Amino acid sequence: MAFEIRKIGVIGAGQMGGGIAQVSALAGFDVVLNDLSEDRIAAAIGRIDANLGRLVEREAISAADQKAALARIKAAPDFAALSDADLVMEAAAENEEVKRKIFSSLCAYLKKDAIIATNTSSISITRLASITDRASRFIGIHFMNPVPRMQLVELIRGIATEDETFQAARAYIEKLHKTVTVSEDFPAFIVNRILLPMINEAIYTLYEGVGSVDAIDTAMRLGANHPMGPLQLADFIGLDTCLSVMQVLHEGLADSKYRPCPLLVKYVEAGWLGRKTQRGFYDYRSGVPVPTR
Ligand code: NAD
Repeated sequence: MAFEIRKIGVIGAGQMGGGIAQVSALAGFDVVLNDLSEDRIAAAIGRIDANLGRLVEREAISAADQKAALARIKAAPDFAALSDADLVMEAAAENEEVKRKIFSSLCAYLKKDAIIATNTSSISITRLASITDRASRFIGIHFMNPVPRMQLVELIRGIATEDETFQAARAYIEKLHKTVTVSEDFPAFIVNRILLPMINEAIYTLYEGVGSVDAIDTAMRLGANHPMGPLQLADFIGLDTCLSVMQVLHEGLADSKYRPCPLLVKYVEAGWLGRKTQRGFYDYRSGVPVPTR
């Protein structure tokens, strides 16, 4: 019989982990949500409640759906609370050292046949799998941001991922009514391999003074029909995540065309990480985004 996923553990209750918890709970999965502190988990559950509330207002779901989904999400203050999860989704920061620490302590707490998945945007699935005690039950499940709105999920097998793991992951994504594309395990997979160099090039365009923030974003919205300008999108993704992905591409493919723009590095060093810190290529503090260059 195929391995069935019923209970999902989520590690990292940020933009992605919160979204994964939300869509999973709405689809009927039990969810246990972990982060570094109980405050962060409570804040994430608060954001999920508010998001579900907006869906009720738009009549996309009923008030009873909201209540039932929220009741399915429990806080997991430590990894012991993930011990009966069938699938653990790691969605902590895009930093290999952080993920390494999580995977090396997590495995001892899990069921023997639990599947571990990472939501990494760029790091090698095979390398992350090798930190665990179960490379055959490890897979990349790469959701897009914002999780509730984006239709695509990339599935990435590591070299040792067994078919049962892949099929269970695919069945989970299908229950969320999302579409799977399969990518080989190469730096940044498909979407970010194409998208992030475009964003990095937009930042070079700004850095070299070819255009202002407003000119670059307007050009790509109206000239290439993109729904969002590349700098607006960078702020939305998080500039730290953008930089990490470019570094992984640069190191992983050893090609200078992936060199992260020094201006991106500078914004990250300033702690201007985009929307999540209220400032990036735009300043969001007044409520109306104001270009910072
Ligand atoms: P985020 O900064 O919003 O959230 C990360 C969360 O992880 C934070 O709440 C942080 O407290 C928590 N965390 C850090 N270390 C932890 C640890 N040791 N244990 C438990 N929790 C820990 O980041 P995000 O945008 O949600 O990204 C998370 C992952 O998803 C990254 O791997 C990222 O590359 C990937 N991803 C991001 C996007 C995007 O557009 N932002 C899209 C697809 C995938």
